[in-house]
Amino acid sequence: MTNEVCFRTLHLDTPWSLEAYESVGGYSMLKRIAAGDLCHDTIIDELKLSALRGRGGAGFPTGLKWSFMPRNMPGQKYVVCNSDEGEPGTFKDRDILRYNPHQLIEGMIIAGYVMNATVGYNYMRGEFYEPFERMEAAIAEAKEKQYLGENILGSDINFELHNHMGAGAYICGEETALIESLEGKKGQPRFKPPFPANYGVFGRPTNVNNTESYASVPAILQHGGQWFLDLGKPNNGGTKIFSVSGHVNNPGNFEVNMGLPFADLLEMAGGVLGGKKLKAVIPGGSSSPILPAEVMMELTMDYDSIGKAGSMLGSGAVMVLDETTCIVQLAAVTAHFYYEESCGQCSPCREGTGWMSRVIHRILKGEGRAEDIDNLDRVAGNIMGRTICALGDAAAMPIQGFLKHYRHEFEYMIEHKRSMVEA
Ligand code: SF4
Repeated sequence: MTNEVCFRTLHLDTPWSLEAYESVGGYSMLKRIAAGDLCHDTIIDELKLSALRGRGGAGFPTGLKWSFMPRNMPGQKYVVCNSDEGEPGTFKDRDILRYNPHQLIEGMIIAGYVMNATVGYNYMRGEFYEPFERMEAAIAEAKEKQYLGENILGSDINFELHNHMGAGAYICGEETALIESLEGKKGQPRFKPPFPANYGVFGRPTNVNNTESYASVPAILQHGGQWFLDLGKPNNGGTKIFSVSGHVNNPGNFEVNMGLPFADLLEMAGGVLGGKKLKAVIPGGSSSPILPAEVMMELTMDYDSIGKAGSMLGSGAVMVLDETTCIVQLAAVTAHFYYEESCGQCSPCREGTGWMSRVIHRILKGEGRAEDIDNLDRVAGNIMGRTICALGDAAAMPIQGFLKHYRHEFEYMIEHKRSMVEA
């Protein structure tokens, strides 16, 4: 485990305190910026060199995203942090908020400086009471030291940061639904374009990044883009926090170098629970397609390796499944989740998620029909790419993955009216 970037205060007594953060070099980049020693273009160049990619799931290059913001456009601009963390299996952002809040704050102030934005919002999942309190306390500490507010450290940089609690809808993790929710409206995704960089919060240019992405920035600037890149692999720079859950002996968050073999990560998580055989892995949260054990054991944990194998690194939520897992049951739970969380704006998602959930539950009840499997595949295929936001794809992709690798389990259950793993 490296713990070099987002968890770099974890070994200290009160890792969330300002004192702890400053002891590892925290706010030193802000001090350089306030002294006029680090300009916008240098920061963007370092981020591009670092190959930091969006840690919320999309994996878009952060430096490139920051360069899209029209920083010279007159008027208000915003920096927003997506701490909604609703993807099933993901539990990393809450630990940054709880254990190293100042690093996120410094990352957001730097983003504000680069994009000429004087206001930031940290949109947090509604259940994050403890992280919310830690963030509030950290913001108060930062204000006290003149790291936040007007004329930061005597410079002409101004930045105010506000925490905002969501109300529990998964769809508010989608950046435009998050923006709608932040504005006090029903959290539903917007049609795009325009994208938030041009039309975001209150119609103003807005940059939205994930918690882990912003929190990585101060460490990248402190040690250099090349240092961060070298921690990982080309095009997959740095470290990544993986939330490992499911059938493992030691579930938890592990900040490791990008490109670590999956086998090593599994070992860090204590191996498969009870010494059972590994069946499969969902490598990047519930919306990423499942990969069988024999495929997964050959892969490294980075965007390109997992992508080439037909899945996604996503948010880094690694769900480990042992040989006792019934894939039809897993598919039923997954399909029901997306059906419940669809916002209902587009027909393929609203109707398709319901159809998929009902058909899989019918199979589970022993009432499956021979044509159900092809119908499921067809419905999933008709959702893909035909919706306003990515939730449609997120609902379809796992079902397609289950059918691609475990079609025989669906066929068995339809024919024998019981799970193959019980046979
Ligand atoms: Fe809503 Fe689903 Fe359409 Fe996204 S894809 S806008 S969640 S109906």
